[in-house]
Amino acid sequence: MICRAAVDSLTTELGAAGFESPRIEAERLVAMTLGVRRHELYVHSEIRIEPAEATRLSSLVRRRVAGEPLQYIEGSAPFRELELSVNSAVLVPRPETEQLVDHVASWIQSKRGGLRVECALDVGTGSGALALALISEHLVRSIVAVDLSESALGVAASNVRALGLTGRIQLRQCGADFWAELGPDERFGLIVSNPPYVTDAELECLPDEVRCHEPRAALAGGPDGLDIIRQLSAGAPDRLEPAGALFVEIGAEQGSAVYSLLKADDRWSEVRVYKDLCERDRFAVAVRR
Ligand code: GLN
Repeated sequence: MICRAAVDSLTTELGAAGFESPRIEAERLVAMTLGVRRHELYVHSEIRIEPAEATRLSSLVRRRVAGEPLQYIEGSAPFRELELSVNSAVLVPRPETEQLVDHVASWIQSKRGGLRVECALDVGTGSGALALALISEHLVRSIVAVDLSESALGVAASNVRALGLTGRIQLRQCGADFWAELGPDERFGLIVSNPPYVTDAELECLPDEVRCHEPRAALAGGPDGLDIIRQLSAGAPDRLEPAGALFVEIGAEQGSAVYSLLKADDRWSEVRVYKDLCERDRFAVAVRR
């Protein structure tokens, strides 16, 4: 079969299977099969797909139709300016989480006169997305990144190496009490986290693509989704330098609960909740006295 015809017939197949952007997905799957970038496909539109490639394409299509996120199939996903390796051990980086970096950047501009943070902490680093973006965008000089999952840390480590940032990031495996992983005198100018915050009830209603393929431990935040957020808000003031800040991604329904939780603790001088681009509460920021 000719490449263009393969894209057309796959587009029809994926459209019929209910995918929202069947042509883009078809192009990506065919491009992946041929080992080219999607935008380069038109150069190859007349080439013949060899039998071995056709076999490979149908196995990729089978995975996609079974609901596996395209990013896992491709093995990579964009985050800010970076292209990160991902697999089913880590969440696919979300556009909302990219916005957390914007909030850190504006805090650094407005409250620190543009001075980057010497040492930060990332709780639940997953693929390392937040930690790597903060370093590569010169917002932070070095960062300790912890995660419960050994396989997630493996993904983060390969991203750290691929970006040549080995000297700037310390990856540590932690237990359920992640604060216990830190040395008694370790303090940070900034703590960031995209913790698991999905409630038990919401978890069952997530799209299959998320629920059946993404790591549950990175999503499930307990009955009200706030288990880890409570741990963060309780422990962060002791680990932040004066005027240091905690930036946490939260669920759309958690804005007022997280605001009250942080507001009740007078170790914070300032507490704010910010919305994402869809106008849903998405980030909580607290600044230590
Ligand atoms: N935003 C993710 C979702 O919609 C949840 C990520 C998280 O729990 N940190 O599934």
